[in-house]
Amino acid sequence: MNETKKLLAVYQTEQKLRGLQARLGAAERFLSEQERRLTTLGEQHGSFESQLRQIDASTKESEDEMARMDERMEKLREEMNNARTNKEYQAFLVEVNGLKIERGRVEEEVLGLLEQADAVKTEIEQSVTSKDERQKVRDVAKQDRDTRHGEIKNRVKELEIERDQLAGEVNPRILFELQRLLDDRDEDAMAGIEIIDKKRHEISCASCMMSLPIELLSKLLSGALTSCSNCGCFLYLDEDTAAELQPTAKR
Ligand SMILES: [Zn+2]
Repeated sequence: MNETKKLLAVYQTEQKLRGLQARLGAAERFLSEQERRLTTLGEQHGSFESQLRQIDASTKESEDEMARMDERMEKLREEMNNARTNKEYQAFLVEVNGLKIERGRVEEEVLGLLEQADAVKTEIEQSVTSKDERQKVRDVAKQDRDTRHGEIKNRVKELEIERDQLAGEVNPRILFELQRLLDDRDEDAMAGIEIIDKKRHEISCASCMMSLPIELLSKLLSGALTSCSNCGCFLYLDEDTAAELQPTAKR
């Protein structure tokens, strides 16, 4: 095997690995999105619960105040019954009337608070439903991720061993360059060539589509490692293209 073919074998194995891991990555990302949404829903739920506790506490305070007013009014009425003078009676009456107005105000307040509590309770119910639904989606997503992980685990191990063996055949400096190209350009780390004009031996890089100098062709045909002078990817010649470029092979 020539240098280019060795490198191509590493590249193709790496591509298979990346393909497998990309599918797992999608399931992984979907799962963490569900986890994130579930956390947000949990926080919303908690905030509604604390709103409800505050409203309940205010309601209790106002109800206690009303009870104290009722007690005071009861006492005032008794004292009115026992009033000795009209002046005394009138004074109690003024206080009772004042209390009635104040009690009415507090009662309004309580009604408003009860309305608020109902609205928050509805929000809580809705947030429980949303949480339950999201929980189900999250569970399915987790299952899916685990299944995919289980499915590819062995294949990934096999491919990693295969890739490492193949990589052992390649000059480390070139391997390093391939790794850099894979990180930068992913599947465009290596590219085949395209024939523009067979008779004139005009070729272009299949990745960047720019035409390549004719000198590169003989290098490619010899199997020597060749890079695209435009985009920098490693070039290879597949058998069909190589056959097509050699007129003798056709006869
Ligand atoms: Zn190129």
